[in-house]
Amino acid sequence: MSNEYVIGIDLGTTYSCLAYINEDGDPVVEKNFEQEDTTPSVILFNENGEIIVGSPAKDMAIMYPLERVVTAIKRQIGTDYEVDIDGDKYTPVTLSAAILRKMINDFNDNHGVEVKRAVITCPAYFGQNERDATKTAGKVAGLEEVTIINEPTAAAIAFGFGAGGGEKKRVMIYDLGGGTFDVTILDINGNAFTAVATDGERLLGGKDWDQVLIKLIKQKVCEENGIDGSELEDDDDVKQALILDSETIKKRLSSAESTKGTLTVGGKKAVYTITRAEFEAATAPLMQTTIEIIGRVLAAKNFTMKDIDDLILVGGSSRMPQVKNGISKKYPEANVRVFDPDQSIAKGAAIFSKSHNWVGADEVAAAVAAGKTIVPKEGEITVHNVLSKSFGIKAQYDDGKEMISNIIFRNKVLPIVQTKTYYPIEDGQTSIKVEIFENSASDNDEGKRIELIDGYSVGEFEMDLPVGVNRSTPITVKFVATDEGILVAHVDCMSQHAEYQLQNKLQMSDSEIKDSQGLMEKVTTGN
Ligand code: AMP
Repeated sequence: MSNEYVIGIDLGTTYSCLAYINEDGDPVVEKNFEQEDTTPSVILFNENGEIIVGSPAKDMAIMYPLERVVTAIKRQIGTDYEVDIDGDKYTPVTLSAAILRKMINDFNDNHGVEVKRAVITCPAYFGQNERDATKTAGKVAGLEEVTIINEPTAAAIAFGFGAGGGEKKRVMIYDLGGGTFDVTILDINGNAFTAVATDGERLLGGKDWDQVLIKLIKQKVCEENGIDGSELEDDDDVKQALILDSETIKKRLSSAESTKGTLTVGGKKAVYTITRAEFEAATAPLMQTTIEIIGRVLAAKNFTMKDIDDLILVGGSSRMPQVKNGISKKYPEANVRVFDPDQSIAKGAAIFSKSHNWVGADEVAAAVAAGKTIVPKEGEITVHNVLSKSFGIKAQYDDGKEMISNIIFRNKVLPIVQTKTYYPIEDGQTSIKVEIFENSASDNDEGKRIELIDGYSVGEFEMDLPVGVNRSTPITVKFVATDEGILVAHVDCMSQHAEYQLQNKLQMSDSEIKDSQGLMEKVTTGN
């Protein structure tokens, strides 16, 4: 039975959500053990060596030292961030895996199954390292097969499903979550979802609104209670309380025009009042950033808002009235709709999971390289993404300077195949190291060299050359960016053919994955 359950997981910065397809074929959100639809992405390491995830972790956080509580780990994914807890090292991959493990444990316990595959979502602008890390987190959590799709695409799939399908539409997905923000334009044509352009801000989300609100609360507490600001600064309890309170106050201001709160300072309760107008004024620059990104995405394809049929708001932070109001003020012609903000991404992932033919990424890459298309089955949902980053190689130019020479450009629909020819630098050369850099150059910059510091190294591969090459032996490299945005290189030189996947220092080996799976035993279950 286990494999008949298809699940989709929205692994969010502040909250995560798991959905599956029920017997009627509808996507439904699975309640966690705590009976909540979404699980706070908070991890707490208690003194008994247990890893506690979700609301219990969030609730207990105030009683533990800051270093035993991990929040917003998604912001670190793809980096070399590491925490050491009681002698065990945890990376963004293992910490994300702990969140996934908790949600999957709860699902398994509730349904008496053992889920082995899932679709996990990630922000559209995630690059190679982040996608790879998200996939590996799924493996560490015990999944055997993991497919990654972009969050806005998942939201569009859920939207398309809700609209009954069959329609031809161009939608814009505005996704303001807890820690990340992106805007994506997608064309929906029946079961085919094609992303057209995407842009975003890696470090922008509800958490930033919380940070601004914390400052505002501090200011109000001082003003209204005659407290000196310095009293609030070095107090860890105040710090912890404000982290939780700011989010509660923010949510309240989504439905109330004004709210009161209390903060205990030096053993005394201080009461304060915050109005929505004050909160909106203080956070206006954040909101403005999102509006500017909408403009950037439209401009990337020379669209105006009139080209967009529906502008769909997803992500928990879209609940703030300033979002819909701010967008409608700037774009009165936009058809703005708040669509199931907390659940649409997980549901879309589950719908995709059901219709997905689960062909391995390697197989897809091989088919693409050979110029073959994999024909979708009847009713299958097809998804074509755009690359969020351009890819280039580190090249040495005639003037001796090393710069990035771009090969594949962002905002082009995947899969993409691009063939380049290179030559050995010397006769008898045995190998060539190819280092791949991501960067944000657009196709308008084609031909332009990019400085290395404006890019980000995502890995390399070493091409072995056959015996007997000389400086005029062509080496044909076919770069393939698959539908998942994974880069593969097919190299032909003389009669030798070889295929390479990017290798980077953050990738985990099978044995490291296995060891990390052991750590997941510490994740507590409700039973
Ligand atoms: P997501 O990552 O999409 O689950 O979004 C979570 C973010 O949405 C967090 O920053 C929450 O504080 C925020 N959020 C959820 N509900 C509301 C609400 N009613 N008003 C304002 N923000 C909210």
